[in-house]
Amino acid sequence: MRLLCLFLVLAVCLLQVLAAEDYYKILGLDKSASERDIKRAYRTLSKKYHPDKNPGDETAREKFVEIADAYDVLSTATTRKIYDQYGHEGIEQHRSGGTAGRQTHDPFDLFSRFFGGGGHFGHAPGHRRGPDMEFRVGLPLRDFYNGREVEIVLEKQQICDACEGTGSADKEVITCDKCSGRGAFIQKHMLAPGMFQQVQMQCDKCGGQGKMVKKPCGVCGGHRVVRRDVETAFTVEPGMDKGQKIVFENEADESPDWIAGDLVLVLEEREPELGKSEEQRTDGTFFRRKGRDLFWKEALSLREAWMGDWSRNITHLDGHVVHLSRPRGQVVQPLSVETVVGQGMPPYSEGHLHDQSDEDDDVPGNLYIEYTVILPDQMESGMEKEFFALWQKWRKKIGVDLAADGNRPAHAHAHAEKDEL
Ligand SMILES: [Zn+2]
Ligand SMILES: [Zn+2]
Repeated sequence: MRLLCLFLVLAVCLLQVLAAEDYYKILGLDKSASERDIKRAYRTLSKKYHPDKNPGDETAREKFVEIADAYDVLSTATTRKIYDQYGHEGIEQHRSGGTAGRQTHDPFDLFSRFFGGGGHFGHAPGHRRGPDMEFRVGLPLRDFYNGREVEIVLEKQQICDACEGTGSADKEVITCDKCSGRGAFIQKHMLAPGMFQQVQMQCDKCGGQGKMVKKPCGVCGGHRVVRRDVETAFTVEPGMDKGQKIVFENEADESPDWIAGDLVLVLEEREPELGKSEEQRTDGTFFRRKGRDLFWKEALSLREAWMGDWSRNITHLDGHVVHLSRPRGQVVQPLSVETVVGQGMPPYSEGHLHDQSDEDDDVPGNLYIEYTVILPDQMESGMEKEFFALWQKWRKKIGVDLAADGNRPAHAHAHAEKDEL
């Protein structure tokens, strides 16, 4: 019976070993991964699967623990070597091997060494929160129209990878012996015989930290944090407006002393510049945006405005063509505005929440064309004569008196002649 039990226990252990997923696979890496790759993978994945971000999700929780476990083994040269040679079984043996085995890490403890704040996100009570960071990102209008994946590089304060935020080269932190870890001590001053004044002094040995390191970390010089360029990728959704905020939770400056605040990117519309490459050479440079609508100025010659019979092709922000035209005989008044329905910005609503009150949330904006009429500066003299004669002939027949028409007082030298066509 006892033997059977032992056998069962062994079988279960073996099964667990067999079932455990490859540590490299858990971190999305292969065996050639560098120390840096492993750290980077842990940073990204542990945040993604943190239970605080996935409340009630057991799978995420398990994954979070797995990720911590994988990192724990692969981030140390000794255990990584054992794992590479003997796999999970080797690690199990190593761990149960007494003195050599490291105590199993609390996954939250590991997380807090990377991100600070006691291993938790958000506003956990008792944890200080670092400041939010705001950056402005300028983008051309065509990116707001088409949407775009953007990558930017920001300089951020990060918890030092090398010492995992301890500031110590050997990751050992000792309690200050002068203040016994309190960071301060009480000094008594004798004011008079038998009369003492107690003054609290900050400990000068540990700078009030209560903790010290023997060998400061070579990378951060014992500061526990480093400033580093960090790549940040985000998506501009089609139709987003300027002023749109993109929030990265807990991704502002990091410190072991606080929970990182939020990194906030504010989108701005950059001054348009002429597209340099062929595909960028759309008329997009000349669109102006107001909310969901776009505005465009189109110039017509006198003949076109008055006689009609013209057409224009406007290349829109994504390269499609908007066709404008008038048949012969159709007049366009200067400064008149034509509405091209649905050719404005695409609809965008934050979170894509739809309630019945915002029915027109799905509708794109309009494109408004304002017409300017350009009169010729000069005419050839022959042409000028012909036109003049033509005007004279027709203004006598159908012209109007603009002064009378405008209800202005009659001129002293009022003449019967009609004024204009
Ligand atoms: Zn001290
Ligand atoms: Zn360091």
